[in-house]
Amino acid sequence: MSWRAAVLTLFPEMFPGPLGHSLAGRALSAGRWSLDAVNIRDFATDRHRSVDDTPFGGGAGMVIRPDVLDAAIEAVADDRPLICLTPRGVPLTQDAVRGLAQGPGVVLVAGRYEGIDQRVIEARGLREVSIGDYVLSGGELAATVVLDAVVRLLPGVMGTAESAAEESFAASFSGHLLEYPHYTRPAEWQGRAVPAVLLSGHHAAVAAWRHEQAKALTRARRPDLWAAYSAQPQNGDQPNNPDQSAAPVATGGARP
Ligand code: SAM
Repeated sequence: MSWRAAVLTLFPEMFPGPLGHSLAGRALSAGRWSLDAVNIRDFATDRHRSVDDTPFGGGAGMVIRPDVLDAAIEAVADDRPLICLTPRGVPLTQDAVRGLAQGPGVVLVAGRYEGIDQRVIEARGLREVSIGDYVLSGGELAATVVLDAVVRLLPGVMGTAESAAEESFAASFSGHLLEYPHYTRPAEWQGRAVPAVLLSGHHAAVAAWRHEQAKALTRARRPDLWAAYSAQPQNGDQPNNPDQSAAPVATGGARP
């Protein structure tokens, strides 16, 4: 059975959106995954089809009602994990994405306004997930990000041209390193030469150079990931403040 996604939203017309194109779009057409965009408003019970109300305790904005959202969840809930997108959630990681890809699918709740009533989060055991430390106007883009990240990992979605084996956060990179920089033709462009090792034909030397670059980039840009990488026993010889011999070249490209 294919991987099944449902998004509960006030704007179902925003789906599939970007997910209807490229890798995810082809996989959707091929039936490798399915997407059900459910309009929360269809579960409103009053004649105005209200889905939100003012916050108890006062304050700006509106809050999505628990009874309406709960009815929408009830309509799709099964064995799939239930996630609501919110800036105060646990940050999304590639590990979590891999976990979702291995399951039956996901039900995503996209918030709007100030967010959703806390009681439905607790009653339904919704996992609160954030896609980063910034505030979007709605959860639809966040849901799209989650689905894009998961769908590309589903079996048969990525061809050999796109590989997850050697990318940022991949297991082959200890799960904690950013990816090394890439180069293609021409070998020299605007006075910038491709690092010579990449033209050497020495596979082991290329692999070693890429690994050093991945480490240097991670150390320079993401102290949190670098600390996690260094803490792994097999990488225990990584000094936390090493010399700069492996400084990344990706910041401006190598000059001849
Ligand atoms: N009042 C909320 C707060 O301060 O945390 C922000 C609400 S935001 C304007 C409206 C909706 O956008 C949220 O309910 C959530 O679904 C979505 N959203 C905004 N930023 C997000 C983020 N970084 N990650 C995931 N969802 C986000």
